[in-house]
Amino acid sequence: MKVDLIAGARPNFIKIAAIIDAIKEFGENKIKFRLIHTGQHYDKNMSDSFFQQLGIPKPDYNLEAGGGTQAEQTAKIMVGYESLLKKKKMDLCLVVGDVTSTMACSIVAKKMGLKVAHVEAGIRSGDLMMPEEINRIVTDSISDYFFTTSETANNNLIKYGVDTSKIFFVGNTMIDTLVKYKNNLIKPSIWDELGLIKKNYLVMTLHRPSNVEEVSNLRNYINEIVINSNNIPIIFPTHPRTSKKLNLIDLSFSNLHLIKPLSYLEFNFLIEKSKAVITDSGGITEEATFMNVPCMTLRDNTERPETVELGTNELLGTNPKAIFPALNKLFLNQWKKGTNPPLWDGKTSRRIINHLLHL
Ligand code: UDP
Repeated sequence: MKVDLIAGARPNFIKIAAIIDAIKEFGENKIKFRLIHTGQHYDKNMSDSFFQQLGIPKPDYNLEAGGGTQAEQTAKIMVGYESLLKKKKMDLCLVVGDVTSTMACSIVAKKMGLKVAHVEAGIRSGDLMMPEEINRIVTDSISDYFFTTSETANNNLIKYGVDTSKIFFVGNTMIDTLVKYKNNLIKPSIWDELGLIKKNYLVMTLHRPSNVEEVSNLRNYINEIVINSNNIPIIFPTHPRTSKKLNLIDLSFSNLHLIKPLSYLEFNFLIEKSKAVITDSGGITEEATFMNVPCMTLRDNTERPETVELGTNELLGTNPKAIFPALNKLFLNQWKKGTNPPLWDGKTSRRIINHLLHL
């Protein structure tokens, strides 16, 4: 079987790494793949470091579609991928997650007669203001095979009329990568520079357009977090979209430390030992759940309800006033303990490849 693997943005690389490991385990003669990097995320901090640390092979093609608006990126990816498929016919296009690359390549592949497999299918926030929600709906509406992370995702797909024979509940590829590397995480330099102490600092990340586009939102969140932080260090690796906005405000708080995005192994070292993480990321809520680290999500909804129902995540919403009671609970050591959702066991990618070989 000839398969195109699509990876475009930071969370994609972590999932694709696990899938490539599984393909190699089964034997590359069974599944011949091309790795296509769309170039959506392109610099060292957001792309290269993941390839190096996670042993992802050099992409066979790079569509160099970084920068520009959502529509410009979508268009560049579609044109680039179509020209690749015109030169060589493949059997299946495997897309992961919910980024622009996921949607753009699935549309091109389907129109060119390939089967489309979507890893992390069926998750829904119900919030059409999120670009990712649109990517999820479009991708799932044309996919042939649906690999899911939760029963909720299965039920969402069934509600949309997907035939159950096409839905494979396999677990979470992001957790595969964490299971593989959890004993080899790397201490980032900020640890010694600040003299960080285990369970005595917070990590925060924000990058959703709805949270960071308006500088005043960003400032209000940061103010509330700093005021209620008991003065422990707050480490804030900033996504490029967020950095641009943060440059516009004066942030001189002695315990707030803005740093560049960390590599995967450094970032998860920091999360594992933190008192808590405050975030609007989807993937980080899953990793925090797996590592049993308290997680506060600054969003009104989540497409990953299992991180709240079973895991350590709590949805605080988008009113900064919700931050005080949450941090208060944390410092009183009253944060809930989580359990690991079903099939988040490090074997998801193997299940996916096994299914693909039997299709
Ligand atoms: N991550 C990282 N370095 C950072 C911040 C995040 O390696 O400085 C990793 C994190 O461990 C997770 C992924 O990036 O695996 C999450 O990506 P992001 O928050 O950009 O996307 P989302 O999951 O919200 O789609």
